[in-house]
Amino acid sequence: MTDKKKPSGPHEVDVQHLLDLLNHNSDWIWEVDAAGRYTWLSEVVTDMLGFTPEEVVGTTPFDYMPPGEAERVAGAFLAIVEQQIPFSGLVNRNQRADGQIVVLETSGIPLFDEQGNLRGYRGMDRNISTLGERVLQLETIYDTTPVALCMIDRMGRLVMANKAMIHLLGNVEGNINDQLFSTLMPVCWAAFRRDFALADGGGEISSREIIWAGNIYYIHPVPVHDAAGNVVGLSVTWIDVTERRQAELELANANEVLQHHAQHDYLTGLYNRRYMDECLTRAIVRAYQQRYSLSVCLADIDYFKDFNDSKGHQAGDECLREVACALSSVRRRPEDSVSRYGGEEFLVILPRTDRHAAQAIAERLRESVDALKIPNAASPTGYLTMSIGVATLEGNERLPEDKPLPIIASGLIRQADNALYSAKNNGRNRVVASLEPEEN
Ligand code: GH3
Ligand code: MG
Ligand code: MG
Repeated sequence: MTDKKKPSGPHEVDVQHLLDLLNHNSDWIWEVDAAGRYTWLSEVVTDMLGFTPEEVVGTTPFDYMPPGEAERVAGAFLAIVEQQIPFSGLVNRNQRADGQIVVLETSGIPLFDEQGNLRGYRGMDRNISTLGERVLQLETIYDTTPVALCMIDRMGRLVMANKAMIHLLGNVEGNINDQLFSTLMPVCWAAFRRDFALADGGGEISSREIIWAGNIYYIHPVPVHDAAGNVVGLSVTWIDVTERRQAELELANANEVLQHHAQHDYLTGLYNRRYMDECLTRAIVRAYQQRYSLSVCLADIDYFKDFNDSKGHQAGDECLREVACALSSVRRRPEDSVSRYGGEEFLVILPRTDRHAAQAIAERLRESVDALKIPNAASPTGYLTMSIGVATLEGNERLPEDKPLPIIASGLIRQADNALYSAKNNGRNRVVASLEPEEN
């Protein structure tokens, strides 16, 4: 046989074969003119959209998109057409002739006439309904979450940013992908560069709080790797914690105020009885541990009922404030504490103070009130005076195991009260120190 049939190579496809290639395939091939109208379509369109090529010619891709989707896709597509560049991976939802939704992934290249003017696009659509629906859902979640999300590459470019992130950045103008993070947020960029270095070395990037435009953000950068394992970007979550931090601050302030109220007397601002009882217990423990003397002075205003009766309750309150001020200003150690223990009764706790020294301090306390020279007709001196009882715990022994602390504390107060009673009985306006040994 001489008439050898040449094997058909890839360049010798006949027209029918070419049409078969286009029409019996998984992807739909098309061409549109400069206005985006279909001028040629492979028959695959019927599988994909349920329309014949003849029905589709003259329409545009947007005619098959449900309301809302056309607007969404048009934005991205117009930017491509304006730049007259090839595109790929444009995911879009379409409504088939039977009403069903199909998700297509579109790619294409620009076509130019001999003068170099854009005459249209040629491309293909692939049905990615299963994966595409998922991609669109994720895209919606990504874009609409109130948490700001972005991806930054090693050059500091914003590769991706959702709506909340763009808002955080102050609604940057233009294409987000052209923005350099190093320019938008120079302070953060320095920290992100350190994160890149850390991630390169396999280190873990720590989350942190930053202040940006008057808000506090908790940011969580996570490295993004390429297939070869190189760190190519950072995915960063930004959570606005301003309100939370403010609430915490307000709570801390409120707690402080609450604690102040719990420990202080509202009228005089001195410590109150509840706090002093705690103080006394602690002071007793320390006195025993460190074997020093602990004294207390219980001071009571003389003839205060008469003062109140003649001058009125308000004047009485004002007088209590003045007395509190006078007692507080008597020179003493910082660890000594002064309180309003009852109505017109004040307690002073004096750690490291023996009976003798306590008596001297009590005398100064009494004099401080005397020096106020507040007229009190009921008093033999004509002025407001004070009587003080002093009691001392000699902490030269071990803390008695058989005696609970509250009993020791109340015993000490009782001794001071007894001494005060003696002071009252002996003419008032005086200091009496208890001679009783510490009771068991
Ligand atoms: P003594 O010299 O024996 O201590 O006599 P006194 O009148 O001071 O003692 P008494 O216990 O009979 O009266 C205490 C008075 O203190 C009763 C009340 O009128 C007054 N008092 C107590 N707490 C307050 C207060 O918070 N404000 C005012 N204005 N007066 C108070
Ligand atoms: Mg009293
Ligand atoms: Mg009194």
